[in-house]
Amino acid sequence: MTNSTLAAFRSADQRPTQLRTLTYHGLAPGPRLLVLGAVHGNEVCGARAIAQLIAELDSGALAIERGTLTLVPVTNPLAYQLGQRTGERNLNRNMAPSAIPQDFEDRIANVLCPLLDAHDALLDLHSFHTGGAPFVMIGPQDNRGTLEPFARAAEEMQLALHTGPHRIVEGWLETYALGVQRRAAAPTPNADRDDQILMTNPNYGVGTTEYMRSRGGYGVTLECGQHDAPEAVQVARHAILQTLALLGLNSRPLAPVPMDREILRLVDVTDRQHAGDRFSRDWNSFDAVKGGELIGVRQGGEPVTAPADGFVVFPNPHGEVGQEWFYFAQQRA
Ligand SMILES: [Zn+2]
Repeated sequence: MTNSTLAAFRSADQRPTQLRTLTYHGLAPGPRLLVLGAVHGNEVCGARAIAQLIAELDSGALAIERGTLTLVPVTNPLAYQLGQRTGERNLNRNMAPSAIPQDFEDRIANVLCPLLDAHDALLDLHSFHTGGAPFVMIGPQDNRGTLEPFARAAEEMQLALHTGPHRIVEGWLETYALGVQRRAAAPTPNADRDDQILMTNPNYGVGTTEYMRSRGGYGVTLECGQHDAPEAVQVARHAILQTLALLGLNSRPLAPVPMDREILRLVDVTDRQHAGDRFSRDWNSFDAVKGGELIGVRQGGEPVTAPADGFVVFPNPHGEVGQEWFYFAQQRA
């Protein structure tokens, strides 16, 4: 698919009724890899990198020799058509099949979840709104807990390291669940009832990679760079080629992993409590803060400060009341 056919797909005025996937089977056995682009419709670097890859696979410039590669260039076609993050809701939340789908994303999930089930590893390609360096998100360490039991942390870390970014972020679902617990204990007055239900359900924190882990697979979310940065497509492309080499789907040489890396653990989430809550400055994700440093001020004037030395992550100055305002991360000990 070229960029011009991507553009034509986007401008179609019909509401999407299908999900396009392409599968290449190597003629020797091997792992099954799924690569997703545009789970968020305005994050197009993955869709572009996948389009390049399809052209190379179809021309013979690149070949799958072992295992299975499935490519989904545009995972949320409604959001993509609208040129925005979500269609009717965020596809990367509450990911599960439903017997009675309630919205477009439920219908996509009904097709996508069996596809996730049918693969061993997932590379999910995203981009972000404000500037900054690429990073990759991994799941928990191996554990037998109830929230996100997992036994493939070593394979997942290898995948994360080989995708390329210097920065690795962990602890998403645990920290999300911590926020859910607090919201359930102290519901936000006047919050929309549907929002309240969603924001107090830990399943709402389940996206593509969490679903994958819940089904015995593993996967990473690669944030390739700013939405419009041309180099984000190269970051996505490098990660796909590296993953093919790492899993042995072809015989291309594996590039070495970056020597220098930083592992940040999400440890806390702070909700916006009032429309008048304000940040003390325009935070970018991963800005470092000292313990006690002012991050924001509540509507009533109370300061919100860093609990320790760490980093402000995913700041959202326009977050809904009762929903995430910012996450707080620390270096993994
Ligand atoms: Zn995204």
